[in-house]
Amino acid sequence: MAQTPNPLETPSALPYDFPPFAEIKPEHFLPAFERAFEDHRGSINAITYVRSMPTFENTIVALEESGRLLDTLAHTFYTISSADATPAYQALEESLAPMMTAHTDAIQLNSALYWRIKTLHDRIDELGLDAESRYLLERHFREMTLAGAALDDETKDRLKALNERLSVLTTTFEKQLLADSNELALIVNDAAELDGLASGELSAAAQAAADSGHEGAYALGLTLYTGHPYLSSLTNRETRRRLMDASRSRASRGGPNDNREVLLEIVRLRAERAALLGYANHAAAVTADETAGSPEAVHALLRQLAVPAAQNARGEQAALQAIIDAEAEPFELEAHDWAFYTEKVRKAQYDIDTAALRPWFEAERVLQDGVFYAATRLYGVTFTERPDLVAYHPDARVFELHNADGSALGLFVLDLYTRETKRGGAWMNPIVSQSRLRGTKPVVVNNLNVPKPAPGEPTLLTLDEVSTLFHEFGHALHGLFAVVTYPHFSGTNVFRDFVEFPSQVNEMWMLWPEVLENYARHIDTGEPLPADIAPRLRASETFNQGHATSEYLAAAWLDQAWHSLDAEAAAAVTDVAAFEAAALADIGLDNPLVPTRYSSTYFAHIFAGGYSAGYYSYIWSEVLDADTVEWFRAHGGLTRENGDRFRDRLLGVGGSKDPLAAFRDFLGRDAQIEPLLKRRGLEG
Ligand SMILES: [Zn+2]
Repeated sequence: MAQTPNPLETPSALPYDFPPFAEIKPEHFLPAFERAFEDHRGSINAITYVRSMPTFENTIVALEESGRLLDTLAHTFYTISSADATPAYQALEESLAPMMTAHTDAIQLNSALYWRIKTLHDRIDELGLDAESRYLLERHFREMTLAGAALDDETKDRLKALNERLSVLTTTFEKQLLADSNELALIVNDAAELDGLASGELSAAAQAAADSGHEGAYALGLTLYTGHPYLSSLTNRETRRRLMDASRSRASRGGPNDNREVLLEIVRLRAERAALLGYANHAAAVTADETAGSPEAVHALLRQLAVPAAQNARGEQAALQAIIDAEAEPFELEAHDWAFYTEKVRKAQYDIDTAALRPWFEAERVLQDGVFYAATRLYGVTFTERPDLVAYHPDARVFELHNADGSALGLFVLDLYTRETKRGGAWMNPIVSQSRLRGTKPVVVNNLNVPKPAPGEPTLLTLDEVSTLFHEFGHALHGLFAVVTYPHFSGTNVFRDFVEFPSQVNEMWMLWPEVLENYARHIDTGEPLPADIAPRLRASETFNQGHATSEYLAAAWLDQAWHSLDAEAAAAVTDVAAFEAAALADIGLDNPLVPTRYSSTYFAHIFAGGYSAGYYSYIWSEVLDADTVEWFRAHGGLTRENGDRFRDRLLGVGGSKDPLAAFRDFLGRDAQIEPLLKRRGLEG
């Protein structure tokens, strides 16, 4: 009997090497991965055991050319397993995680390969390399050194065992968090308890309940972070309490989805690994290869910001309590009341009701006339939907981008809606990375978790969701605009504490007058936002920053606290909640009314994602972002000239040069912290 060919084992016939998602089935992956591992191992062996002396071509360029099959496959797989992790994909991910780690380690810790790279690196000045190639050699040498390639075999064996176990634990963490979040979705039987929600939100909740077998009830899915967008509008205090309690109890309730033991083991193993690599702790090992350079630099910034942020939050708290005290039945403000009363203060101070603005933020208009429009004005790129290209889920749509001169740029996939098989939060990932060496153009995807409205109803976004759409598209542009030779440097392959910078910059266009006027049209009347709203929205941007900054800094500090433990100290921690409380008290961010944005048991960024000891990155790169926003304002804003400068000097270079040098190249000087302090009201 003729076997159907495995679509993952033949080059894609689709434009831009777009994976043939429609033909791909879970069972295609394991055999394809086995072949791709073998192919990559073969290439590495050929590089390592070649009889001639190492040259840049036969070692570094060959490394960059190798593993293409595996890159394609891994990108395809992780795209699906993050956004549509059916049980089959979850099971696959669990078996793949240790295989992938073992494969990577076999290369990163390969002594013969390291010797070749070191030999080249020792005489880097004599090689006559162009700037990108020289930086590539430096990076390969540094990355392998940091991974442990120079260590003895016994230590390497222990490292490999640790990495493998960690890959299993982080996968488990993600899986259990997703399962517990789904289980904890708040089921409400009586619509009266959801008073305050808009009719579209209510029908979405009814639909979500029906989809999960609770016909006739309402289901509120949890967001990844501690709060929830509905907390600002739910009038029923008990519902607010239940919603936040559910969120904060995630993966810490005992039973099969408890992440406490999982994360404690992660912390212990990371501390042990750092010691093997010669560092005091995991945070030191991570920051050594970031723009921050050391945990001390990170801690200094976090502490500098924490004091005024906590103080501002206390001021905000007093204002909220004053409103409650004026009510007929006053009570003491609690964490789950914060957002609701904050909206009241916002209304009183700025005359803005953010929930009432949603009819102006219909998703399709925000996307086409806002996000895409800003990109066209800045960079001259145009967008065409490609319904002929089928992605991994019916909700994921594909757009083709062209440059102003008509040349093809790449593909952008948008997957807007939440579903039980999608991990929480919002993110961008590449499906195909741009590289001149490989002749590939970029394909990237943005994922959000917007509740899906009932059939026939429009998707009306919250202000936060609009902001997230602009943010994630900033990451997408970073990937799409890459013009690098080597795949190692493509797009968002930059330092972790630099990667948020382009996405944060892109958020500025959301409230930019010409952009806002273009997309914010009332869903029924087509009318623009009333003229006085936009200035008030801009004026209220610093509003509630004490709370927002504090909850973020608390999470960033928690991340540093866990990862600043040495092996001995890590082994002594047994109580997750007590450790958290002590860490937050240490930095003065232990106000019970301002809980950390993520508690440890659902802090996926650091225990499942790539942000361990790196969650500080958001505020670190916001220093650059706030300074850049000032630059755009001072230079005429939304113009092709400004856009092209940002694209050429910053977005396009990806990781192919020192990021702070690229930043200086763009801005003409180093970043200054004052614009950030001003933006967040922390000038003190
Ligand atoms: Zn981001």
